Amino acid sequence: MVNPTELFAENVFNMNIMRERLSDATFKSLEKTINSGKSLDAGIADEVAEAMKGWALSKGATHYTHWFQPLTGATAEKHDSFIFPDFKGGIETQFSGDELIQGEPDASSFPSGGLRVTFEARGYTGWDPTSPAFIKYGDAGAATLCIPTVFCGYHGEALDKKTPLLRSMKVLSEQTIRLGQLFGIDCGDAMANATLGSEQEYFLIDEELYAARPDLQQTGRTLFGKRATKHQQLDDHYFGAIKPRVAAFMAELDRELWKLGVPAKTRHNEVCPAQFELAPVFETLNVSVDHNMITMEVMKTLAEKHGFACLLHEKPFAGVNGSGKHNNWSIVGPDGKNWLKPGDNPHENAKFMTIIVALIKAVDTHAALLRSTVASAGNDHRLGANEAPPAVVSIFLGDQLTDIVEQIEAGGASRSKDGGLIHLGVDLLPKLPRGNTDRNRTSPFAFTGNRFEFRAVGSNQSPAGANVVLNTIVSESFDYISTKLEKAVADGKEFNLALQETLAEIIKEHKRILFDGDGYTEAWLEEAAKRGLPNLVDTGTALEILTTQKTKDLFTKYNILSNEELESRYNTYKEAYETLITIEAGTAADIAKTMIIPATVTAIREYTEVSAVKSITDKMSALLEKTVTGVTALEKADSPKAQIRAMKELRTSVDALEAIVPANIWPMPGYAEILHVQ
Ligand code: ADP
Ligand code: MG
Repeated sequence: MVNPTELFAENVFNMNIMRERLSDATFKSLEKTINSGKSLDAGIADEVAEAMKGWALSKGATHYTHWFQPLTGATAEKHDSFIFPDFKGGIETQFSGDELIQGEPDASSFPSGGLRVTFEARGYTGWDPTSPAFIKYGDAGAATLCIPTVFCGYHGEALDKKTPLLRSMKVLSEQTIRLGQLFGIDCGDAMANATLGSEQEYFLIDEELYAARPDLQQTGRTLFGKRATKHQQLDDHYFGAIKPRVAAFMAELDRELWKLGVPAKTRHNEVCPAQFELAPVFETLNVSVDHNMITMEVMKTLAEKHGFACLLHEKPFAGVNGSGKHNNWSIVGPDGKNWLKPGDNPHENAKFMTIIVALIKAVDTHAALLRSTVASAGNDHRLGANEAPPAVVSIFLGDQLTDIVEQIEAGGASRSKDGGLIHLGVDLLPKLPRGNTDRNRTSPFAFTGNRFEFRAVGSNQSPAGANVVLNTIVSESFDYISTKLEKAVADGKEFNLALQETLAEIIKEHKRILFDGDGYTEAWLEEAAKRGLPNLVDTGTALEILTTQKTKDLFTKYNILSNEELESRYNTYKEAYETLITIEAGTAADIAKTMIIPATVTAIREYTEVSAVKSITDKMSALLEKTVTGVTALEKADSPKAQIRAMKELRTSVDALEAIVPANIWPMPGYAEILHVQ
């Protein structure tokens, strides 16, 4: 019997446990830090550490770790035990406030993109009390208290994904509160927050088949593979009945996630055979990001236990759907309400439309930057591949909302209530569909009733990067609008009129970003080009946006990333991208040389005696020659672009060989088997 309410957060040092284990004064102080962003009172750290240690020991944890998110996009941990010698031949347990607040892992091997010179190579971790500590259990009694932390250099330079995320949340909170004040919302100390629900797609394949594919093992994707005759054409997998072995995995995955406080909610089969999705309930942004990182990790380790390999790569198999991570994002105001939910009165709706228009401005102004946050070698195969949004960023609003936006644009300058125009703050908006009714799967950035869904994020990526940019560009828009309105009101202009004019002006300037049609078509790409929307087709191009003055100005203005921090990220991501492509190229060449070519030779030899199959042997010989030439060309390729091109070329002949070399000789399991055996 599983009772989710009992399991939930069993392994989390959450508010309830804190209330139980901390003195009143300490609990209140910590609660203030967590809920209203007040800086931590270092005086309480010892007591919190002692309570955490006591709780962790009672749950069987022997070690603790500062758990952080370096620029590799994964999570990192270095364990320390709680033990300390008592110098009488025994030990006692210890965990001080200092150890809780700051760690100093010898982390010189993490990428810093040149930000740290070796003599100050140390990185420091600092406790993020807004994301609760949790215990991670391994096999054979391994149990470690994981304390979510940021990771910085000696001078506080961000070396991780979380630091800029927290900075961007702070700015978004400030700008949201400021905008709220213009609408008469004043909630004292309360902060505003971004919320995130990240739907996670993944593949599960049999571990033995995985073990027989060096390409999957080395690079996370198949570098070769003839398309299976039956794959996803019949759409018979999507939302289909879940096979028992997969269902068992999913059930245990949910339980393990619940124990860690991750609100796993939805599970289902995805479009491609062997592809699945997990969606959690949304949470405060940084907690949700941490939980997504945990989810990916638990998926991978648990899959092994169930005899599967979990593939988080964006495109493990060519010719069928890849995996994404739909990033559902919204803003909770200081009043605790979702500000992307249409309201019940003119005043609330004026605020709602202001936020929609602010997003239009933000996304149009920084479409290229937003695109760059989802740039990765894996995602390059997915974006624009007719199953995922194109690399062109546009916004989908749906008919009704688009109509309202158009009315605001048209009525901006006039005060008269003729022509049925809506006047912000005076008239009620027509009822907008609540919830998830508007469906346009082909849009990268869609309004879905009470949130925006950014669908271009890759399944294997940390959600942090995309949300840093989202928070920052929306903050900039809010800042712009508030500045205008504050000035207009100070100059004696009526608020609603000033608002209407401001929004109309923004819509005029930025409406080119709105597109409700089919984003998968060629026609849209042509239209987008006409509108001047950027189409950054690959990672190499997209990363260059990080080096522009516009990006530097944005990040420095809001103290999200200094120029040095930004440059270090650019260097790190570029290097990671180039290294990955080089690993793919090397693996492809190895597989061709040591597996494909010998297997083909065997096949040719076996067939040679029989004249009836001469046409087949001739074809094999020709393809073999092409393969050999292809390997040579690949080994000579000296840039990511050239390597990618050479890999494609080599793949053509190898996949053609797979279609004629006898199955019992072919050295790797094929797509048909991998995608259908679970
Ligand atoms: P669909 O696949 O139809 O988009 P799902 O239920 O799979 O819907 O996922 C929707 C995601 O959006 C869930 O993670 C959900 O919690 C999240 N979500 C809903 N409301 C909000 C909100 N206000 N802020 C952020 N995320 C939200
Ligand atoms: Mg969705």
